[in-house]
Amino acid sequence: MEENKTFEDFSFNEDLLDGLDAMGFQKPTPIQEEAIPVILEGKDLIACAQTGTGKTAAFLLPILDKIYSQNDNESTINAVIIVPTRELALQIDQAVEGFAYFINVSSLPIYGGGDGMSWEQQKKALVEGVDIVVATPGRFISHLNMDYVDLSKVSHLILDEADRMLDMGFLDDIVKIINYLPKERQNLLFSATMPPTIRTLAKKILVNPEQINLAISKPAAGVLQAAYMVYDENKIDLVCHLIKGKSSYPSILIFSSTRKAVNSIVRALRKNGFQAEGISSDLEQKQRETVLREFKSRRVQILVATDILSRGIDIKDISLVINFDVPSDAEDYVHRVGRTARAASTGVAVTFISPKDQRRFYSIEQLIEMEVRKMPTPPEIGESPKYNPGKKGKGGKRRNFRHKNRGNRKPRGKRK
Ligand code: ADP
Ligand code: MG
Repeated sequence: MEENKTFEDFSFNEDLLDGLDAMGFQKPTPIQEEAIPVILEGKDLIACAQTGTGKTAAFLLPILDKIYSQNDNESTINAVIIVPTRELALQIDQAVEGFAYFINVSSLPIYGGGDGMSWEQQKKALVEGVDIVVATPGRFISHLNMDYVDLSKVSHLILDEADRMLDMGFLDDIVKIINYLPKERQNLLFSATMPPTIRTLAKKILVNPEQINLAISKPAAGVLQAAYMVYDENKIDLVCHLIKGKSSYPSILIFSSTRKAVNSIVRALRKNGFQAEGISSDLEQKQRETVLREFKSRRVQILVATDILSRGIDIKDISLVINFDVPSDAEDYVHRVGRTARAASTGVAVTFISPKDQRRFYSIEQLIEMEVRKMPTPPEIGESPKYNPGKKGKGGKRRNFRHKNRGNRKPRGKRK
């Protein structure tokens, strides 16, 4: 790879380069450097690179360049981008808006629920035509079923966050959508991870694909990771304790796997005088967007979120991520932690490990191939659990860990 590759090297249209300039993109990231030429050549591609490495622009830029240079004044759908969540649909749509500021290429986000565009507005836009559709599967299929969407000119299909879509059970929907598309088309599959199911999907959909794999299941190098050993009942106090000294941190993101915890954390933080907002599936789409916007623009310092936010959604420069619990999926840990230190800045990620989560955290360490520094609960907050993830007979070997609830037990006197 050349050291100083620039966007000019891809011979993009000048007007597109102006858009990039305006967005402050100076140099392609590694995934962009590798993927863009392949996509420009018209090949199918399966590309895997970790969260925050710039995959969106890797597929949008060459597609925008192609659509723009065809220069037909047609407004029939040319590219279909399928994504797992409405947040991501909006985010990609907004990225198109940015890159395409000086070129005449339009995009349309299609997703259900909440009050984005209404069904009728979506229908109207789809019928009138648009260059790029960015859609979640369910809502798009509902429109397709009605037979008014002309997909005959679709030359590019992009599956973004393919791993996430499979996790969410969208495989059948994806196949359904594909059945509506012309057989001759370019297929691009982007994913943060490459589980075997993705390869199966790729075999089904892609034709002689090029493969780019820059993924390592590890958080970006700039992230400083640490963990606290803590009992569940002390976690709220520990969060407040950690955040107290952090008034200079512009953005803090706290993840919890339950909505209930999100609400209690927000309440506790507010009681302690912090500006915090919560975001979970409890909120209407519109409220979610407002909260995200406030957080992105730094009017709100602390955002408490369930996992809907851990993948894909791009929020820049989060200085501190706190995992209020250990994510059940080891890959999710990487995604959560990936919220900090995006595109080569630095950040801190702290995980709370309760006794029942010790095993799980241990398997995360296996995945990321490193041991995360563990600290006891500060004494002023409470007693600290001991770290012992494999506590089970046989000389402490971690095999045969049959008793699922074993790590759940608290020492006598600690139980409520
Ligand atoms: P991914 O989809 O791989 O998780 P994104 O496409 O969301 O990553 O990009 C992560 C962040 O990096 C975004 O804020 C994006 O604007 C920024 N970014 C991407 N490519 C570049 C680049 N070449 N120069 C500067 N910033 C970039
Ligand atoms: Mg992405």
